Order: sequence, then C-alpha cells, then structure tokens
Amino acid sequence: MTAAPLVHPGRLVIVGAGVSGLMTALELAPRPVVVLSNAPLGAEGSTLWAQGGMAAALGPDDSPALHAADTIAAGDGLCDAAIVDRFAGAAPEAIAKLARLGVRFDRKPDGGFALGLEAAHSRSRIARVGGDGAGRELMRALVAAARETPSIAILEGFEARRLLVEDNAARGVLAIGPAGPAVFPTDKVVIATGGIGGLYAESTNPLSSFGQGLALGARAGAVLADMEFVQFHPTALDVPTRPVPLISEAVRGEGAKLINERGERFMAEIPGAELAPRDVVARAIWHLRQSGGRAFLDARAAIGDKFAARFPAIADACRAAGIDPAREPMPVRPAQHYHMGGIAVDPEGRSSVAGLWACGEAASTGLHGANRLASNSLAEAAVDSAIVARSIDGAKSRVLAPSRTPWASCAADPAPIRPILSRAAGVARDGETLAAAIGPLAEMAAANGPAADPATVALMIAVAAIRREHSLGAHYRADFPSAPAAPIRSRLTLDEAFAVAAAYAPPYRIRRA
Ligand SMILES: Cc1cc2nc3c(=O)[nH]c(=O)nc-3n(C[C@H](O)[C@H](O)[C@H](O)COP(=O)(O)OP(=O)(O)OC[C@H]3O[C@@H](n4cnc5c(N)ncnc54)[C@H](O)[C@@H]3O)c2cc1C
Repeated sequence: MTAAPLVHPGRLVIVGAGVSGLMTALELAPRPVVVLSNAPLGAEGSTLWAQGGMAAALGPDDSPALHAADTIAAGDGLCDAAIVDRFAGAAPEAIAKLARLGVRFDRKPDGGFALGLEAAHSRSRIARVGGDGAGRELMRALVAAARETPSIAILEGFEARRLLVEDNAARGVLAIGPAGPAVFPTDKVVIATGGIGGLYAESTNPLSSFGQGLALGARAGAVLADMEFVQFHPTALDVPTRPVPLISEAVRGEGAKLINERGERFMAEIPGAELAPRDVVARAIWHLRQSGGRAFLDARAAIGDKFAARFPAIADACRAAGIDPAREPMPVRPAQHYHMGGIAVDPEGRSSVAGLWACGEAASTGLHGANRLASNSLAEAAVDSAIVARSIDGAKSRVLAPSRTPWASCAADPAPIRPILSRAAGVARDGETLAAAIGPLAEMAAANGPAADPATVALMIAVAAIRREHSLGAHYRADFPSAPAAPIRSRLTLDEAFAVAAAYAPPYRIRRA
C-alpha cells in the first residue's frame, strides 16, 4: 500500500491532453473533470506535430458517402462500416465546431475552407491550417479554451502509472506528480494518451508517445483490438534525426512524384500511383530499399519555389538536413506513424472495463480498419470526443474508494523495446522473427523494470501479428502474403498474450511481477 494522498475524489479523470483529451474535457463542461498531462500542456503528444489537417466532406463536389467509401477502401476490408458512416457524417460539423472554438483554418477568398488533397482521397477534403501547421494551431486553440473553462482542472506534470480496477470496474487512477504519488478515486476514466511510435526505432511520433494508455488499459484487464495494425508513413525524411521528420501526404497531393536513385517513377504503374493508400506506398518504398535502391520525393516541378510558403514546417526540417526541396528531391523512407489498434471500444467509446472509456489514437474504434486514411485521425478525435462525453453523461455514478493501491511502477523506458519491435513488427513481418521477439518481450513485460509497460504493449502487438496469418492493409506477412476472404478484427487481453508467449519462451522465465 502507498500512503498516496487522495486527490479530487469523485471527479472524472481524463488521462492525456492532446486533441482527444482536451476536446473530451471541453465537451463535458460544465461537468467537473481532471485532465492529467505528463508534460506541460501543449508540449507533448502527436497532435502538436500534425501537418496535413482534418478530413471531412466540406467541398461542393464531396459527400459523407464518398468520404466513407474512401475510408473503407483504405481500411482494406476491416473497417466497421457503421462507425465509418457515422464518422463521415459527423466530421464536417466537428470541424465547424473547432472553427467556432477559434481554430484558424485556411480559407478561400469566399470564406469557405481551402481544401487539400491527400493520398487515397477521391476528393480534396483536408481542412488545413497555415499549409502544414494544423496541429500547432489546433493545440493553441484547445489549450486556450481548456484554460478558460473553470470546470477543467488541468494537472501538468502528472503521469498516470496505474488504473485502479476492482471487479472489472474503474476505482481510480494512480499517478506520479511533482510531489510524488497521488490517487484520484473515480469511477470514470478516459484514456486519451495517443500513439505508440516511441516503441519503434524510426517513427514520426514524439519519443514520449509509447502507448502508456494501452499499458494502463491492458494491465487493468481491458481488451485491446487490432494491435497488429501499425501504420508506416511512406515519406519520412531519410535523415538520422529521431523522431524522423515527416513529409506530409499533402506534398504528394500537390503533385510531387516518387522517384528512385535513377530518377525513375517507381509508383507510376501501381493503381493510385503516388496517391495510393499509405500501406501500398510504404511497401513499394520498402521493397525498393530491400533491393538496394533509394526513394526520393521530387517536388521540383509540381511545387518548386512555392515549397517554403506552402509547407513551412517541412521546408524547415529539410533545411535543417541541408536539403532544398525546391531544387532537389528529398530522400524518403517509411517510418512508424500511427496505430490503428488500441483499447477496444464500443460505439460509445466504452472499453470492456466498466467506467473506462478511450478516445483518439489510444482507442480502437474500427474506423480505420487495417490502414488509416490520411487525416482521418484528428477528425476522428474531434467526432469521438463528443460521443464519449455523451456516453459519460448518460452513465450512472458509483464512486467507491479503491480498497488497495499498488506501488507506483517506476518511470517507463521504451529504449530496450525499440530494436526488438522494429525488427519483428515493421513494414514486413514473418512468423520466425515475431516468434523470436515474443519471448524477450514477455520476459520484460512480466518483470517490474522500466521496460515493463512498453514491453507489455509491444508484446501484444507481436502476439496479434503472429496470430494473423495473412496480409491485410498495414499488416504484411512476408510468409503469408495473401489476403483473407473475410477479414475479422482481432481482440486480445494481456492474459491471453502471456498465454501465447508461453509457447515461445519457457514459462518460468515470464513469471509475472
Ligand atoms: C508528425 C505527425 C503528423 C501528423 N499529421 C496528421 C494530420 O495531418 N492529420 C491527422 O488526422 N493526423 C495526423 N497525425 C496523427 C495525429 O496527430 C494523432 O493521431 C492525434 O493527434 C492523436 O491525438 P491524441 O489526442 O489521441 O494523442 P496525443 O496528441 O498524442 O496526446 C496524448 C497526450 O497524452 C499525454 N500522456 C501520455 N501518457 C500519459 C500518461 N501516462 N499520463 C498523463 N498524460 C499522458 C501526452 O502528454 C499528451 O498530452 C500526425 C501525427 C504525427 C506524429
């Protein structure tokens, strides 16, 4: 037992302060909520780094039905069609709501949204901000709105380390704050901790995004879904910097071409060419590199001297690497970018644990299927935060103080996980490499060390990947390249993952702490 003080008893706790956490808090106002952010507000998380923008059927030539069809096509047969329809129908209003909140979207002279085109979208439907500055502007507006909302208690520098769950119901959150451990007794928790890129050696995500919320949920007994579906963005800048700078799909949307080291377009014959879905382009670049080639994104003809004005953040990243995209092709390679998997939630955002909701990239709703359509993530967070808030409003309250509080785990360190997961669950996977990874991951997940929580998430990715013996969307098995006739989503608990792992490592070595 810890002697951790009880803080804000009875208040709903939102873990994470990116677009999903802050929008959920704002949607719930004036209901009192606590937002835990392990970093100063607006300083961490993927939202800040988002470039392209938010997808919604906002143009006169577009419709929610077309947006839904593109989402389903990119998702490679695994999307939940009802969730997709609801999302596509709600996305325009979610964006209008953000505009009312003060987000300064790029506009046309007539006041309408200036819409960009991105890969696998059949229409221009990306609402942008400052060319490639969507995330910064979104966070500016959301942080300002949250700070001005009296019902939102924002606790910065508080890292959630454990969910307190009894009888499969939320009883509280154990966090470490600047003064040490604190317990937040509550029967309602929203996980909004973002993605998993920090588990990979090469990712476009902040290094601090390593699936903390998924570890919290998994250790609390929640079901996780579609963990094997990890999206690799095809055009990360091929430089040694970590995280890897991203070159937004919007650059290809404006006509930039992918070429090999001989200057030949290698996507020209593939359906969709440069604007094919992300998994298709990422695999093409991966194959090219496997055969000794290199890939470049050539924006000289399509964008040229306008590049710095159109994409200021990308131009800065290129400049820092000594590359001038107006004059020379940019070297690119795939890098981990997004996770379609996460805490399995029902259409109201509820997990399998009573009183535990999940929203944003940490949730697996079924919207993205096996491969997320570009710019659907921020829009999903905006749509789903309202759905989660409504669900919470309709839920009964029964706050019971946790009867026991575990010791707070030590600060997590994903560094030992990165080489293992990157090798086993990259753009291409195979059973042998996955099997070799599962034993060490299970051992680390079962121990009580700094790598335990990151290893928990990585283990669940590897187990889900070894179980799926076919290729689908972002999950490409080199040993099972064919697609299934009727794909189904995967579900996994931590106990099941350990049971599978026992087949790959002697069970005595994965004795759980
Ligand atoms: C470079 C880049 C560009 C992108 N561009 C786009 C785009 O143009 N369009 C699009 O739709 N998507 C884009 N994405 C994806 C999108 O940005 C993310 O999926 C989305 O922002 C996730 O939002 P979130 O609120 O779920 O998580 P995040 O924004 O990652 O926020 C997570 C929050 O949780 C906090 N946190 C984590 N763990 C804990 C803990 N244990 N305790 C307390 N706090 C914790 C973090 O500090 C952070 O505040 C991009 C991603 C990247 C990396």
